[in-house]
Amino acid sequence: MKTDLFFYTGTGNSLWTARTLADELGGARIYPISRTGSDPVRSGAEAVGIIFPVHIWGLPRKVIAFINALAVDPDRYYFAIAVNAGQVAATLLQMRKLMNDKGLLLSAGFELAMPSNYIPWGGPGPEAKRRQQISAAREKIGRIAVMVARREQRPVEKGPLWQNVLFSWLNKLSFPYVPAMDKSFWVDEKCNTCNICTNICPCGNIKMKTDRPAWLHHCEQCLACIQWCPQEAIQFGKKTPNYERYHHPDVKLKDILAFTATNGIEKSGGE
Ligand code: SF4
Ligand code: SF4
Repeated sequence: MKTDLFFYTGTGNSLWTARTLADELGGARIYPISRTGSDPVRSGAEAVGIIFPVHIWGLPRKVIAFINALAVDPDRYYFAIAVNAGQVAATLLQMRKLMNDKGLLLSAGFELAMPSNYIPWGGPGPEAKRRQQISAAREKIGRIAVMVARREQRPVEKGPLWQNVLFSWLNKLSFPYVPAMDKSFWVDEKCNTCNICTNICPCGNIKMKTDRPAWLHHCEQCLACIQWCPQEAIQFGKKTPNYERYHHPDVKLKDILAFTATNGIEKSGGE
């Protein structure tokens, strides 16, 4: 009854979700999508979970590449968890269609609300609210684990119709422009050239040029660079100097770097 969980993460919400679910399932292997997305994905597991953040009300490019690389195996139980800041919209419908087109069935799709890491639109909100969101997410992951263990077939979760129509349209419009959105990043005088940003980017989109990081315009807007910079020296547009940084409280910088810098594989529990 093996389960493999593939996660894509910037600031740890999806990594934490994968770890928590692996524990709830009594053990599952977790793999970073950022290391596997461009190669054919082979898993001998009976069930495969895909855990990812919703980006601009849709699938991140890396997740699309991951799905496109999946070996066709209609008998495997596939499920997904779309981590979002309160609006999953039609993301899981988009995923189900993408998988259908490949001859794969998305048997269940769950949305999971977590604190927002999208700092261009503001900070993560009051700490008490964040704690509440994470606690509610933990409870929901427990329920998801039960459904996954039973291999339940369920309709994918989605937002209200107006949200699905409007935000899917906005996603389609903005998607081609995401890679160059890194033009709004800049670095202030606090940078000490520690190179954490260049190492943490899941897309290899940051290079150190002379004594400052430079963005290469194949950005995914995961926000890992700005959120993990230990000096808070990375800014996006004009407002971020005043916004609080966020990463999942139970995920540390070394956890993210372990999956970015090496082909990390983690096994939790006894499966
Ligand atoms: S992580 Fe921050 S301090 Fe380190 S090199 Fe990047 S911008 Fe500079
Ligand atoms: S440049 Fe920053 S926001 Fe863009 S993909 Fe890399 S870490 Fe994420």
